Amino acid sequence: MDKQTVITVDRDYYMPVFARYAIVLSHGEGPYVYDSEGNKYIDFLAGIAVNLLGHGHPRLVAAVSEQAGKMIHCSNLYYTETQATLARTLAKASGLDKVFIGNSGAEANEGAIKLARKYGKAIHPDKVQIITAEHSFHGRTLATLTATAQPKYQQGYEPLPGGFGYVPFNDIAALEAAISDHTCAVMLEPIQGEGGVNIPDPDYLGKVRALCDKYGALLILDEIQSGMGRTGKMFAYQHFGIKPDIVTLAKGLAGGVPIGAFIASDKVAAAFGPGDHGSTFGGNPLACAAANAVFSVIEDEKLLDNARIVGQHLLKRLAALQAKYPSLISEVRGKGLIAGAKLTLPGRDIVNRCMDQGAIINCTAGDVLRFVPPLNITAVHVDEMIAILDKTLAAV
Ligand SMILES: *Cc1c(COP(=O)(O)O)cnc(C)c1O
Repeated sequence: MDKQTVITVDRDYYMPVFARYAIVLSHGEGPYVYDSEGNKYIDFLAGIAVNLLGHGHPRLVAAVSEQAGKMIHCSNLYYTETQATLARTLAKASGLDKVFIGNSGAEANEGAIKLARKYGKAIHPDKVQIITAEHSFHGRTLATLTATAQPKYQQGYEPLPGGFGYVPFNDIAALEAAISDHTCAVMLEPIQGEGGVNIPDPDYLGKVRALCDKYGALLILDEIQSGMGRTGKMFAYQHFGIKPDIVTLAKGLAGGVPIGAFIASDKVAAAFGPGDHGSTFGGNPLACAAANAVFSVIEDEKLLDNARIVGQHLLKRLAALQAKYPSLISEVRGKGLIAGAKLTLPGRDIVNRCMDQGAIINCTAGDVLRFVPPLNITAVHVDEMIAILDKTLAAV
């Protein structure tokens, strides 16, 4: 099919929920993707923080192909070595104990919410409230869009599940006023992704942890975007000297193969017994083999160090652009390889212009350019993207 045919067929047959950019992507190689007409793009979106190793990493490709040949799926009625191995890796990496594997971020958060409710109700039947933060993003299922404290994701889907409350992010006084003995969990992204790459004060999460402990509430950290080494540590909470009771992962965990997971302490996981949760596809050998390969590559290629070092370079180059275009960029923020540049105008036009010049970037929260490239990019790739962004901003 030529480009226009693909677009027409998709518009005719796919539900109209995505405001797609008008290119047809066909394949990728390392930090580059190619469209159906052969145009090459440096990829600083990476499938929205998913293609952690870029495109076509030989070890990920080999792991997926080998596992596909052996067994793609077998059901959770049986043990598999790939799943047991991944569960052990996730528990050890997080400092927590027990793992459940699903297929997406929303599913991971949905499971975490269910576990927190079960845990809370065992203490007291009214210990059910879940507090989340404004500008958060936790997914699109009914419970997770209710946890997502942004009206645009909720409108039209009422009645929403009950028992959720919202506070401003990075505002400990607001949380102190909202939390009570009825709170079973506080659920936060340690760094808000979709909401605009919002980084809390260094002492915020420590104070949240202390408040949770005071009221016997669980701390659920949604690391679906910030986790898997993106910030230069495996989990963003490791920068803040705290540990959650439950952490959720998805996006980069299997380098692009659909997967999600939540990890809990033994004390919390004990609230679940046989039959309390489940999934047909969750934790299948294909996805687990991919995730096991991603963990090995992160370690062997020292990608945590790379995310930290190249991330500093990215922030430095973005700050230089801010200095050059102070009327267009009002703030630059980031940690490792998640960075945001807040604009003084809507970002979609800039994203489109960069795409025309061969760079895929993203705009979130309306006016924040978001950069979440693969963790194995180099400073040269950063410079390539920055040169395109520079040219684009000069023309605005
Ligand atoms: C993307 C994302 C989700 C939802 O993940 P899906 O796989 O799209 O369901 C949840 N939380 C955060 C922080 C995310 O970035």
